[in-house]
Amino acid sequence: DLLVNQIAAGEVVERPASVLKEVLENAVDAGAHAIEVQLEQGGVRRIRVADDGCGIDRDDLALALERHATSKIATLDDLEQVGTMGFRGEALAAIAAVARTSITSRATGASHAWRIDGGDRSLAPAALNQGTVVDVADLYYNTPARRKFLKTEGTEYAHCDDMFRRVALARPDVGMQLSHNGRVVHRLPPGTPAARIGALMGDDFLQHAREVSAEGGLLRLTGFASLPAYSRASRDAQFFFVNGRFVRDKLLTHAVREAYTDILHGSRHPAYVLFLELDPAGVDVNVHPAKIEVRFRESRAVHQFVYHALKRVLAESGA
Ligand code: ADP
Ligand code: MG
Repeated sequence: DLLVNQIAAGEVVERPASVLKEVLENAVDAGAHAIEVQLEQGGVRRIRVADDGCGIDRDDLALALERHATSKIATLDDLEQVGTMGFRGEALAAIAAVARTSITSRATGASHAWRIDGGDRSLAPAALNQGTVVDVADLYYNTPARRKFLKTEGTEYAHCDDMFRRVALARPDVGMQLSHNGRVVHRLPPGTPAARIGALMGDDFLQHAREVSAEGGLLRLTGFASLPAYSRASRDAQFFFVNGRFVRDKLLTHAVREAYTDILHGSRHPAYVLFLELDPAGVDVNVHPAKIEVRFRESRAVHQFVYHALKRVLAESGA
């Protein structure tokens, strides 16, 4: 069973940032209002995420570490309408198979917390006011062949930072903090999308960006997109979210690029934070746990909508 989980882990847990993604998404799914992330040595030595969400009760703690144990999907119909970030129930099992993992959690209404050790699965009473603390230490300590593929601390940290930003941009209503090797890197109070975007992309970006707010049929596009005067943009300043999930999708990237090319006659790299919302039934996110691609039922209509919405905003701005 450990071996099966270790093999499965290869798909879910590519590097510290993929652990961080899963654990952060679980915190968001748990309805957390505040999430605190502590990383050590690029996340290889430790990833610790504390949230104030609904918690996990004693009996469900052991289940949470089992493969295909999810509390989020009960029927196949649910799969069509996933509202949560996770739904496969394999992330924690995979993580626990390749790192020293523990979960401490206090379910809403419980008199105290419990801690489960991901190694021997022992349960013990613990102290915690509310929510859940997931502690993932020494990634790949038991699979040295995988450990060899990890990059430098700086590179792994950069991937973690990127992952943190994605979640933080998607959920400005959640207070979020990130520290690395004991130093606070981001301290983000809950607030408006614009405030969160300013905090993470720089006020400079907001000053050189236009707000996007377009609606058409069942599609909605909101966010901010840079004007040509903004020249500091790079690939890591391009964020596209579909129904709250970060995606890097060819169709959407193409629609954005076309809009900029038409208006600016070949601008360099635009910067943007865009949120597309549509009926969940119109988009397939059930592709691959580690992938950030989506499949649209009406891909042409989505492309046209994004292209025209963005082009209109950029044209109005006199760009
Ligand atoms: P999934 O998110 O796909 O359901 P995971 O392996 O990521 O699967 O998590 C397994 C289960 O553990 C979740 O369905 C949820 O019930 C519980 N869980 C994990 N993390 C948290 C958390 N931070 N707060 C509350 N419950 C959690
Ligand atoms: Mg999950």
